[in-house]
Amino acid sequence: MGKSRKLVVVALGGNAFQSKGDRGTPQEYWANAYKAAEFISKLIEEEYNIVVTHGNGPQVGIIAEWMMLGMKQKDIPPMTLDIAGAMSQGWLGYLLQQSLYNKLKEKGLFGSRVKGVVTIVTQTIVKSDDPAFKDPTKYIGPWYDKEEADKLSRELGWVFKPDPRGGYRRVVPSPDPVIQVEIDAIKKLVEDGYVVIADGGGGIPVVLNEKGMLSGVEAVIDKDLGAERMASALKANILLILTDIDKAYLNYGTPQQKPLDVLKASEALEYYKQGHFKPGSMGPKILAGIRFVQNGGELAIIAHLENAYEALKGKTGTRIIPG
Ligand code: ADP
Ligand code: MG
Repeated sequence: MGKSRKLVVVALGGNAFQSKGDRGTPQEYWANAYKAAEFISKLIEEEYNIVVTHGNGPQVGIIAEWMMLGMKQKDIPPMTLDIAGAMSQGWLGYLLQQSLYNKLKEKGLFGSRVKGVVTIVTQTIVKSDDPAFKDPTKYIGPWYDKEEADKLSRELGWVFKPDPRGGYRRVVPSPDPVIQVEIDAIKKLVEDGYVVIADGGGGIPVVLNEKGMLSGVEAVIDKDLGAERMASALKANILLILTDIDKAYLNYGTPQQKPLDVLKASEALEYYKQGHFKPGSMGPKILAGIRFVQNGGELAIIAHLENAYEALKGKTGTRIIPG
């Protein structure tokens, strides 16, 4: 069942759950989850098989704030970053899992077309010798003054750097993802007719020891690069990266900015090398798109969340194709 349908891996950006101006209440989270569920269920109605993944930057930041307050005010020990990642996967996975379930019920797709909606707590392998471990660059969590930062780095071994916006912030490595530990289970569930939510936040970063055993590391994985690894391993047809901008642009943010409609992977790589796409935002999306089509994918699309459907129909967004 479902094997002839095209498989689309949909990567939801940070704006999918907490949009600009939101306080971040549960009501807002639900409202945003239902918006995402609406168009995802539309794609399912159109006969696509779907695997959903999502970012978790804002949520891991919030979890870090909660843990810090708990530690300062009640002496509750903070959890590690890999555990915070697992928490965010459960949190956002649950929201999508329930809103999608309800949307599919409403559209009469549940049971016939779709057997169920499941979230997989996903561990993603990174290499313990990835150069990123020597040079942590990714800012996470709250801002501290120098004294607090020094204390935390003594007590917990955290690394701090001055933040361009002032104060000190924890920095962690962002290693390249290799593969999801749960990939075979994800594949099986898709083949059996389930909508799968997986690899949230790019996956929980884990390393393998010489005996092949796993352990979590204090790092974060870029969700777009994680999505590419999963999409390629699943032999998905399309990687659909949804964000808060309609297209990727050349000379972005300048009077000369120019939207990009269709790019061969080789052209995209050329522009990438020229520095048109900012590291940590559009850069990894373009790189994920290039890697996906180089690894056998048909098409990668970068589009605004609200235009997901039109983008899949070729009407908007930036498309990266093989070649
Ligand atoms: P997400 O949470 O969806 O991953 P990001 O903030 O990481 O969102 O990436 C989307 C952002 O990338 C856009 O809001 C835009 O400001 C930024 N960006 C950087 N370079 C470019 C570019 N060349 N073209 C378009 N957007 C760009
Ligand atoms: Mg991003």
